[in-house]
Amino acid sequence: MMRQYELVERVKAYDPDADEALLNRAYVYAMKVHGHQKRASGDPYISHPLEVAAILADLKLDDATIVSALLHDTIEDTEATRDEIDRLFGEEIGSLVDGLTKIAKLDLVTKKAEQAENFRKLLIAIASDARVLLVKLADRLHNMRTLQHVRPEKRKRIAQETMDIYAPLAARMGMHGVCEEMEDLAFKTLNPEAYGIVVKRLEELRASNKGLIEEIQLALRAKLDESKIRAQVLSREKKPYSIWSKMERKQISLGQLSDIYGFRVLVDSPADCYAVLGVVHTTWRMVPGRFKDYVSTPKQNDYQSIHTTIVGPRHQRVELQIRSERMHRFAEYGIAAHALYKGSANGKGKPGAGKKKLTLSEESNAYRWLRRLIEMLLEGDNPEEFLEHTKLELFHDQVFCFTPKGLLIALARGATPIDFAYAVHTDIGNSCTGCKINGRTMPLMTRLKNGDEVEILISKTQTPPAAWERVAVTGKARSAIRRATREAARAQYSKLGREILGRAFKRVGKSYRKSTIERILPRLSQASSDDVLTAVGRGELPSADVLQAAFPNIPRPEPPRRRIVQRSEEGWFGLTKAIGLKFRLPGASSRDDRKNAEGIPIKGLKGDLPVGFAATGGAVPGDRIVGIMEPGVGITIYPIHAEALKKFDDQPERWVDVRWDIDEKNEDRFPARIQVSAINEPGTLAQVARIIGEGGGNIDNIKMRRAVEDYTEMVIDLEVWDLTHLNEIISGLRSQSVVSAVKRTHE
Ligand code: MN
Repeated sequence: MMRQYELVERVKAYDPDADEALLNRAYVYAMKVHGHQKRASGDPYISHPLEVAAILADLKLDDATIVSALLHDTIEDTEATRDEIDRLFGEEIGSLVDGLTKIAKLDLVTKKAEQAENFRKLLIAIASDARVLLVKLADRLHNMRTLQHVRPEKRKRIAQETMDIYAPLAARMGMHGVCEEMEDLAFKTLNPEAYGIVVKRLEELRASNKGLIEEIQLALRAKLDESKIRAQVLSREKKPYSIWSKMERKQISLGQLSDIYGFRVLVDSPADCYAVLGVVHTTWRMVPGRFKDYVSTPKQNDYQSIHTTIVGPRHQRVELQIRSERMHRFAEYGIAAHALYKGSANGKGKPGAGKKKLTLSEESNAYRWLRRLIEMLLEGDNPEEFLEHTKLELFHDQVFCFTPKGLLIALARGATPIDFAYAVHTDIGNSCTGCKINGRTMPLMTRLKNGDEVEILISKTQTPPAAWERVAVTGKARSAIRRATREAARAQYSKLGREILGRAFKRVGKSYRKSTIERILPRLSQASSDDVLTAVGRGELPSADVLQAAFPNIPRPEPPRRRIVQRSEEGWFGLTKAIGLKFRLPGASSRDDRKNAEGIPIKGLKGDLPVGFAATGGAVPGDRIVGIMEPGVGITIYPIHAEALKKFDDQPERWVDVRWDIDEKNEDRFPARIQVSAINEPGTLAQVARIIGEGGGNIDNIKMRRAVEDYTEMVIDLEVWDLTHLNEIISGLRSQSVVSAVKRTHE
């Protein structure tokens, strides 16, 4: 445990004007009021405020901050009062301790609304004096360091809160040392397995790179000495958590990380940074695209440094950061460095109350960010919305995008415009057809980035494709897509059921009425007329059963018989059913035919009925077709001469009367299978493929077999617009001298 005199010595070392008596009084007071209180570790309670003060002394903060750290838990946990603190230590320290008391027990991982309200309180307390935040962060850091003594459930909660709120807050304040240590301690608690793996791999890496770090450091040192540049060369190893999160973010292994080891060169002035860069780049080859100059153009949070990667002495990549001592202090300590800087710039005067108060009037970017937050806080009255805004810059597991009207949409990292659409409104998601990101048309699977403006293009007739469920990452989008595809499928089945029943009723001289169906619901064991239609459409309830239930006096129609009706010119048998099937070729039909046609209209695969094509050989518009009800699937379309139809001969109830209903705007292609016999010589396949390609057919699959020595037989699956198109391709193939025969096949 650190001793009081050590703390005073440390503070005096960087601030000789620090009020030693004040520090001692604060220590004695804290010790007295905490009395016999113990930490979870069994240590006397005073060890905690003392260590918190020591962390802040490492950041070289002023005596008022150190005193506030010593007193930070007194009002909260002891008999001490604000009045007493004011009286003994002055109002400046009184208000700091008061601010810390107000946020002492804020729970930031509770329910969303409460979390937002608590976060608001935290920021208001910080707003009064930024030193409140510095003490709070040091307090949390010490609690994280001693977390192993706390009960396991509480441990996880504290670690989560640290990871979610305090580490990002420290980072945003530019305090990278504090942020890194917090993240690492939280990582160890939240994911001990992953932490263990990374630590073990790091040890192995260290062993295999033995001597390398020193070698590089010496080489750099020697070169800089040659050029007489005063510089400090430091090496550093990436922390387990930053290694892990980079592996996760980039989906790479530890071995693929090039920046586990890095070097820092610290110099006296900005000009020296460029002198070092000159030496480094003339000695070693630089890796292109890795050079960044944040000295001339600082990052938004005031960070300054030159970054470069070189090919080092042993031909490995070496990452370098070159910066002045002052830039380094700012990079590591953030606003804490600003505090020190201001203090020393003010001269050697006694630290007077209020003079060094770190308020939001400071002109650093970190302060500006805080100030903007506070302004929003005062404007808005919805703490939840406020939290969302804050997360925009705090939380790195989320992306924040905007609607064209400027509404903020927060999504999980990796989210797509589909997630965005569902986050705006379920209806928007369900009717989404495309998107524009920042004004440009982009694919719907694009991963959104922070600040993207997303415009969703919609169509009322759209239903979300089931495949979107795999593209979406948010739970809301996924469940909505599942629901919508289920409903769309149900609507298709219901429509098909209505078509089938309508025709069945007509065949017995009745017209379909919803009321008729509703009357027989109990007999069919169905809950609603729509359930009946859906069951019929799914092929789970034969239309004959519905007829029987509705009109018991009408005799069941004779099961239809199939018969061979014709022999086609290609030599196939055409089969049809006896029950008045009417097929037509679309080219030959007039508009009136279409109206009178009895078959269920097939508009292709994207129509509003559940339709699929037989796997063997397919069917194209112009083919005479028949539908077979597949329970749970819908209609499968077969050409009437397909051999596969034979197996449905004894199930007449499954046959449905269908007809093509393809209009000019159709964009679907249809599957067909042809068999080509050709002379077996080099280039035959290429010639066949060329003819099909030039004819505008898509080749889906080719199977080849050698029937006899000189001939090759190819079975080709094609996609074409219709029968005319297919016949054109077939004639094209027949005109080739290498081709001896072409025919369609359904095997
Ligand atoms: Mn504390």
